[in-house]
Amino acid sequence: MDNVIILGSGCAGNTAAIYAARANLKPVVLEGHEPGGQLSITTEVENFPGFVGGVQGPQLVENMKQQAIRFGAEYRAGRAVKADLSKRPFRLELDDGMALETRTLIVATGASARWLNLPNEQKLIGHGVSSCATCDGFFHREKLIMVVGGGDSAMEEANFLTRFGSKVMMVHRSENFRASKIMLDRARSNPKIEFITNSIVEDIFDVSKGYVTGVQLKNLVTGESYTRGVDGFFVAIGHIPNTKPFIGQLDLDEDGYIVSHGGARTNITGVFHAGDVQDRKYRQAITASAAGCMAALEAERFLESEGH
Ligand code: NDP
Repeated sequence: MDNVIILGSGCAGNTAAIYAARANLKPVVLEGHEPGGQLSITTEVENFPGFVGGVQGPQLVENMKQQAIRFGAEYRAGRAVKADLSKRPFRLELDDGMALETRTLIVATGASARWLNLPNEQKLIGHGVSSCATCDGFFHREKLIMVVGGGDSAMEEANFLTRFGSKVMMVHRSENFRASKIMLDRARSNPKIEFITNSIVEDIFDVSKGYVTGVQLKNLVTGESYTRGVDGFFVAIGHIPNTKPFIGQLDLDEDGYIVSHGGARTNITGVFHAGDVQDRKYRQAITASAAGCMAALEAERFLESEGH
């Protein structure tokens, strides 16, 4: 039986692993369906403190992983597909059919950005296609930027991106916005934002060049398809928290995010949360790392209180 199993190997999971390993708890990290988490699909990270000249996202998470391994963390490929949190030790079933038992569990499974699933979208991530304006807006100074979505995230990202881009085009599939009135009004009154409603993006170009040069749009009212030149393409159509194995056990909100019971605690004693799986607001590498640290400290104190 393990002391601590950490689900997820993004910034939250890796930082939890560093702290738990340094506390001699020999944590086991299940790397999950996207080892390294969201940073593994980004390029340069310029806002993680401590890297004056920036750092490549995949390198940053790999550094964290190696740091955790140095102190005794064990990394395993795979993910939990089922969890029994009704009694301790907690029992996890993995995608390879194995089962694991653990005294404490840190859920750092993240929230996956929802993508449009366009033919070239995944190929251009990190090369103009992004799901995070805070992360990548800076690379598009005086460039043409497109944002897709009609919720608060899309409004916030479009407004934020006007600090960088010469123009921001906001594409939404209808005329009805889920965004709050105040956020929508702010975007509408921003002279740098052009609204393109009742429209969808059909594809992104240009994979042969290796970066974004434009998109094909379709007007859903007229049926007309046409191309527009863009340099940066931001998808802001929501996130999906990775909490499926915990439905009916952990307290989740209406969108599936873990509801915190203070600090890193969940409604189940001995199960802790870390990172984007609980955080729909900040979603930054540094906040996920901080949450991972909190979860590991809480797991350590909990185990100590139980005499382990
Ligand atoms: P939302 O679910 O609110 O909005 C998603 C948007 O994406 C909708 O407009 C939806 O269109 C559109 N969309 C979904 N799928 C597709 C698709 N396949 N193709 C095209 N468009 C699509 O997500 P958000 O991330 O914007 O917000 C999530 C939550 O976080 C909300 O509660 C929001 O209020 C909150 N939030 C708050 C902020 C703040 O207060 N500062 C900032 C950011 C988020 P449709 O409406 O047609 O379904």
